[in-house]
Amino acid sequence: MGFKEEIKRRRTFAIISHPDAGKTTLTEKLLLFGGAIHVAGAVKSNKIKKTATSDFMEIEKQRGISVATSVMGFEYDGYKVNILDTPGHQDFAEDTFRTLTAVDSVIIAVDAAKGVEAQTRKLMEVCRMRNTPVIVFINKMDRPSKDPFDLLDEVEEELKIKVRPLSWPIGNGPDFKGVYNLFEKSLYLFDPGKQVVEEGVSIEDINDNQLDTDIGEESSELLREELELVEGVYPEFEMDSYRDASVAPVFFGSALNNFGVRELLHCFLKIAPTPQPSQAEERMVNAEEEKFSGFVFKIHANMDPNHRNRLAFLKICSGKFERNTNYKHVRLGKNMKFSSPTAFMADKKSIIDEAYPGDIVGLPDSGNFKIGDSVTQGEDLHYKGLPSFSPELFRYIENADPMKSKQLAKGIDQLMDEGVAQLFTSQFNGRKVIGTVGALQFEVIQYRLLHEYSASCRYEPINLYKACWLKSDNKEQLDDFKKRKLQYMAKDKYGRDVFMADSAYMLQLAQDNFKDIEFHFTSEF
Ligand code: GDP
Repeated sequence: MGFKEEIKRRRTFAIISHPDAGKTTLTEKLLLFGGAIHVAGAVKSNKIKKTATSDFMEIEKQRGISVATSVMGFEYDGYKVNILDTPGHQDFAEDTFRTLTAVDSVIIAVDAAKGVEAQTRKLMEVCRMRNTPVIVFINKMDRPSKDPFDLLDEVEEELKIKVRPLSWPIGNGPDFKGVYNLFEKSLYLFDPGKQVVEEGVSIEDINDNQLDTDIGEESSELLREELELVEGVYPEFEMDSYRDASVAPVFFGSALNNFGVRELLHCFLKIAPTPQPSQAEERMVNAEEEKFSGFVFKIHANMDPNHRNRLAFLKICSGKFERNTNYKHVRLGKNMKFSSPTAFMADKKSIIDEAYPGDIVGLPDSGNFKIGDSVTQGEDLHYKGLPSFSPELFRYIENADPMKSKQLAKGIDQLMDEGVAQLFTSQFNGRKVIGTVGALQFEVIQYRLLHEYSASCRYEPINLYKACWLKSDNKEQLDDFKKRKLQYMAKDKYGRDVFMADSAYMLQLAQDNFKDIEFHFTSEF
């Protein structure tokens, strides 16, 4: 197969949802179709459940699961599908944001009874920022659900995107009879408890009597009415409006019952974008370009504490990646060869010789990579879109074992490279502040420092509101600001100036008094 064909057959995406909406179940069913797994239950939820007693072994176990399910690739009908997993727990939202920079499209699972939930809204904001095309799967139709029109309105309002249903449910809960697939013009009947996937009945004309025979007169009347309404209210499905992320096609089904999943997959494969161009600071890079390039969007520590090795997840943006070939680590300006890059196929990892745009390869790493690093065939490219967000929670981190200060420094450094949290160093007194999105990270850091680096840390409270990255064309004003606010100035990991505002009021005051300075809550603007 030629290079271009290899790219064209790739579909790299993520499933996102609020916890419990059915992401894991849907992932698993997609993998079952792909023949990538053979039994239900093979995909472990990567949910980090915080138990009352903070069971750290549990967190460790779950970290293991999350590496195993980070990327799941499979072959289906000539396509190479790569599903990128995202942590459901909101404390790990930043992980999810970064993963979304490596996908070309997204499937959003929504619980039919609960509708759009908080986490889904947040994640959708990231998709919107990046113009990522989304398909919505309304799940759990076998349970008593909200009215489908209400659900669609809710999706439009809450996720701020136009919708276009491509399937329509017939009843819900105990009366759920199936869906009419508007994309294929066929009827799929639901048989609860029966997990085999039936072929749909082709019904081109919904006035066909066949419909009455299949689902009863009452249901077919209602379906005809509703479909008429659907056609009246929602514009025809157009590939372009899906691809430019202005309209989200919607499917209804039940992942647990394997219902509606195949239709979702078939439609997804037909319409979802192939590997898209990637924006580097220098220029736009097309997937079809011959020279290899990619970026690291995730780093995972090895699960074996005796080996300090980590796995860097590299998204291939252009060209063919080959094993044992010299590539340039752009930030370090040095050439590197990778002798054991791994591919992720659903249930196993294996060493590969080559990979294509859209694929993710795992590179064993002993500390060379940071999140956001680019690797190329020589060109100095810096891929954009991996901003740091202002953390929500801050604490001073202090060394609790003077004999182990080196280990602590190294541990903190590496954990920050992995993106577990952000480190800010005060320009005033050199104290180190850790910023996180969720409280759980502080415990994870403490635990991992101890177990992987034999270092102990303790935290001290600090009252901070936001970390702001500064930008100004007025150098004089900026310098003046930094001098006056020295007490509140810090450097981030990359040496950038950060203003640590201790309250919304203080930030407002600074904004009012220093009009030529922009205060940003993300590091990329
Ligand atoms: P995640 O947190 O989004 O990954 O959600 P899971 O896939 O773990 O699902 C959460 C719960 O909902 C599990 O108990 C699933 O068995 C259940 N579930 C998933 N899909 C369906 C469905 O279509 N119908 C019903 N009744 N339950 C479902």
